[in-house]
Amino acid sequence: MATKTKSSSKKSWKSRAVTRLIEAGSMVDCSYCNERVKFQARMRANQVICNVYTKGVWDRVEHFHEDCYTEAGSPFGDPE
Ligand SMILES: [Zn+2]
Repeated sequence: MATKTKSSSKKSWKSRAVTRLIEAGSMVDCSYCNERVKFQARMRANQVICNVYTKGVWDRVEHFHEDCYTEAGSPFGDPE
């Protein structure tokens, strides 16, 4: 296993969210409504992908429908 490069800065990693188009073959469920974040050929729908950090350490990735993320109150900040 490769050792991680030590970060000298004290900046802690924060959870962040980005908006992306849903891609074909997407197999993830929305963390808010628990429904599949589904690619639809006729709709260029967006999803929100969140990198979730707990106590400064990367924990998991969560996916949301764009609307669900807004409805959830943007739990991981405004999407970029
Ligand atoms: Zn949803």
